Amino acid sequence: MADFRYPPDCEALRAEVRSFLTRAMADADAHADHRDLTGLAEPFERELHRQAGARGWLGMDPLRQSVFDFEVARADAPAIDTAMTNAGVAVSMFGADRHRDLLAAMRAGEVEMSIAYTEPGAGSDLTALATTARADRDGWVLDGVKSLVTGPHKADLCCTIAVTDPDVAPRRGMTMFLVPMHTPGVRVVRTTTMNGWDLGEIHFDGARLGPEAVLGEVGGGWRQMAMALTAERSGVFLNGFARHALDLLLEHVRTTSRDGQPLADDPVVLDEVGRLEAAWADAERLSRRALWTATTEGAEPDPALGSMAKVVASELQQDIARTALELVGPAALTWGPLFGGGADAADTTGPADRGRFGFEVLERVHPTIGAGANEVQRDTIATLGLGLPRRRA
Ligand SMILES: Cc1cc2nc3c(=O)[nH]c(=O)nc-3n(C[C@H](O)[C@H](O)[C@H](O)COP(=O)(O)OP(=O)(O)OC[C@H]3O[C@@H](n4cnc5c(N)ncnc54)[C@H](O)[C@@H]3O)c2cc1C
Repeated sequence: MADFRYPPDCEALRAEVRSFLTRAMADADAHADHRDLTGLAEPFERELHRQAGARGWLGMDPLRQSVFDFEVARADAPAIDTAMTNAGVAVSMFGADRHRDLLAAMRAGEVEMSIAYTEPGAGSDLTALATTARADRDGWVLDGVKSLVTGPHKADLCCTIAVTDPDVAPRRGMTMFLVPMHTPGVRVVRTTTMNGWDLGEIHFDGARLGPEAVLGEVGGGWRQMAMALTAERSGVFLNGFARHALDLLLEHVRTTSRDGQPLADDPVVLDEVGRLEAAWADAERLSRRALWTATTEGAEPDPALGSMAKVVASELQQDIARTALELVGPAALTWGPLFGGGADAADTTGPADRGRFGFEVLERVHPTIGAGANEVQRDTIATLGLGLPRRRA
């Protein structure tokens, strides 16, 4: 019988991370930036990354990293999109000796990085990529547009992929590149999401790169990107966000009355929060199973588990947000930012007054789309997991 409990050293790490985050986030409201995904200003985020890096918490083994990611998400702390989470797998697996210093800086939290794979005409189907990198003297010239990129406005580099050989099948003609964002011909256009923060487009207009910009093998980009994306999916940090939202809903239920009756006395409310708690426990166990299977020697590999964990965790987030909307009522239609809710924030009494549930409803739309849309993940479960035939195009 498999035992998915974290070993004592991981639990000790959890306690340490929690206490660090309590201190580090204490004055977060004073550093709000509503246009950033984290809700916080770049200097605050960078400092937190440096402090986490100095403690050795960026780029740990997958089990310990999952503890850190969960706690960070649960605390709304801006350390989900670190360079290590975004591009750590790609750079550590495919980087050459010349990338050693970069990897060290990523682990130290001293460098910020975006991943830029998606394009306006290529999301789920990345074989349709149109960005090209043309060989030029000893380097490359990059042309094209990447879209829906998280955090390019604050990144030092992006990890991207482009067609380097248009004459072979797409899967054999792509190459990954690490592009310094200050390179002439690289331009970021910020686009606002429906929750008020910005994703970005990266425009490459004849951006000249040296030979050192290649990550891994020329022509090996597709395989590398697929490996890096698979490693991204265990659902652990999504479960951290879900735990936090569920705790806020429980706080609301415990502290709120409607028509003189405590919400906690309403059997419908109890039924719903009980259902969500069971669903959370399910999602969390599935993520652990995915992690254990991927990290335990001798465990039978299961290529569908990561996809299952991602689907379940992301849909749970939406379920919690929708249920909160129903249980909280009209107050859940009020929107508030993650941090720095304005002058009235100090007078408010609970998450509903701070507009948190309105924020959740809008925010949790994207996890079912990002990191591989859930419809595509379900295809993976059906084909790789269940062995059903792939659909013919
Ligand atoms: C908040 C957010 C952050 C993101 N951050 C990044 C980032 O940092 N870097 C990056 O490169 N990208 C990023 N993305 C892009 C993300 O990876 C893509 O949105 C995703 O891969 C889907 O691609 P698409 O948006 O082009 O949708 P499409 O691929 O056009 O899909 C549209 C719809 O069709 C469905 N569909 C497509 N193909 C199939 C199929 N084979 N079977 C069934 N249904 C299908 C999809 O599920 C979806 O519902 C981000 C997206 C979001 C929302």
